[in-house]
Amino acid sequence: MSLKVYNTLSRQKEEFKSIIPNHVGLYVCGPTVYSEPHVGNLRTFCSFDMIYRYLTFLGYKVRYVRNITDAGHLTNERGEGVNRMESQAMLESLEPMEIVQKYTVSFHRIMDAFNTIPPTIEPTATGHIVEQIEMIETLFKNGFAYEVDGSVYFDVKKYNDQHNYGVLSGRNIDELMAGYRDLDGQEEKRNSIDFALWKKASPEHIMQWNSPWGKGFPGWHLECSAMSTKYLGETFDIHGGGMDLKFPHHECEIAQNTGSCKHGGAKYWLHTNMLNFNGQKMSKSLGNSILPMEFVNGNHPLLDKGYAPSVLKFLFLQSHYSSELDINIKGLQDAEKGLKRLMEAVDIASSLQLTVNSSGKTELDIKIENIAAACKECMDDDFNTAKTIGNLFELSSIVNSLKGGQIKPEEISAVGLDLLKSTLHSYLFDVFGLKNENAIISNNKLDNAMQVLIGLRKDAKAKKDFVTSDKIRNELSATGIQLKDEKDGEMSWTLS
Ligand code: AMP
Ligand code: ZN
Repeated sequence: MSLKVYNTLSRQKEEFKSIIPNHVGLYVCGPTVYSEPHVGNLRTFCSFDMIYRYLTFLGYKVRYVRNITDAGHLTNERGEGVNRMESQAMLESLEPMEIVQKYTVSFHRIMDAFNTIPPTIEPTATGHIVEQIEMIETLFKNGFAYEVDGSVYFDVKKYNDQHNYGVLSGRNIDELMAGYRDLDGQEEKRNSIDFALWKKASPEHIMQWNSPWGKGFPGWHLECSAMSTKYLGETFDIHGGGMDLKFPHHECEIAQNTGSCKHGGAKYWLHTNMLNFNGQKMSKSLGNSILPMEFVNGNHPLLDKGYAPSVLKFLFLQSHYSSELDINIKGLQDAEKGLKRLMEAVDIASSLQLTVNSSGKTELDIKIENIAAACKECMDDDFNTAKTIGNLFELSSIVNSLKGGQIKPEEISAVGLDLLKSTLHSYLFDVFGLKNENAIISNNKLDNAMQVLIGLRKDAKAKKDFVTSDKIRNELSATGIQLKDEKDGEMSWTLS
């Protein structure tokens, strides 16, 4: 069976055929770097990490582009409001580019702690102002852009007369226009549904650039069209992002691409579904976000303790990337147990000393071959990680039976045993990017040990023995564990 993906654009599962044989161009909308990503954002980036890993596992050479949004993203999705980086800069008394740097670095640290593979190209919006201006100029030439007082807008109605605005999201422009009519801040647009390609900057706006229309900054949707075209071409294989970006962001991207070069960009659109916490979408604005590192160290009132990064990833993988996932303590505890069982199976399998059957293929070998084939079939079926995990549990049961003697060594051949081990290994480590974190998983031993060290450091500080307290902090830091002094005299720790 070959790979099938659910294409949001066609609203059906399609056979995946790359444009260039053996090569895949993959574009994923990256983070807006004005604050720490929360666990919901993490789910989306981990889902695409799994997709990238599986495509690589299948033998494709993947060019994986994931951008950093460091300009143009305003607080209001319709292109109004204030710049997110600038408003955060005011709150933290920093320069906007200091905000960009601070949160880009922490985003990378988190992606690393969760063992995701970096994209092969990570372009920034501020590094591609020229390309964005060029795309606007082409849109002018093609009649889809108009300028009003230093700002440039995309003429959605005119575009829709020739193409289909709504092709991805299924939205109808008359209904959209009716819904937007009474909203503020759109007086200068021809139609309420038009979106900004370039916004005139007020003098106090720090992030601004020269353009043929005066000083300003690009509209948020434009960067992804300009950068995907630059690095992957006018038509490329896969475009991904969270479901909440389908409209307006991705719809506007398609309109910009089609309006400038007659191609809508990606052939396949993949959308990951939302992570909910106790039934509500996790989001910064709703105030229910949990940060990835809070999960790891357990420093959050809604958590009972810390969980290893792989536990959270395993929980994500237990449901399909396009289904909503509601997380709660029970789900985390179950994921922890499940992952532990699989990792124990890996450890046991690697230390099994068996006098195996040497006279040919056994029935058990055939069973293992079928399970290995089923793993691939499940992954080929739109990356069904949940079902793949079910098959891996079957393999772990075989390992336990071999160890416990319920299955005799002569029931398996060396080839069968190798396939069993390599299947567990390939899917758990290469495709899912999990780690064998049994040491952390079992009773959270690392946190217990850290509390002992934190206690020693508190005692040293109380006795004004700063040599010892600094030694504890510095030596932990050298091993990749950061201690942080909290305001109330408490200390917390994070993996850096
Ligand atoms: P942002 O940094 O806000 O642009 O978001 C980065 C990515 O995270 C986007 O692809 C969003 O669609 C995705 N995202 C935001 N909230 C959630 C959530 N609760 N669950 C899953 N993905 C999310
Ligand atoms: Zn994007």
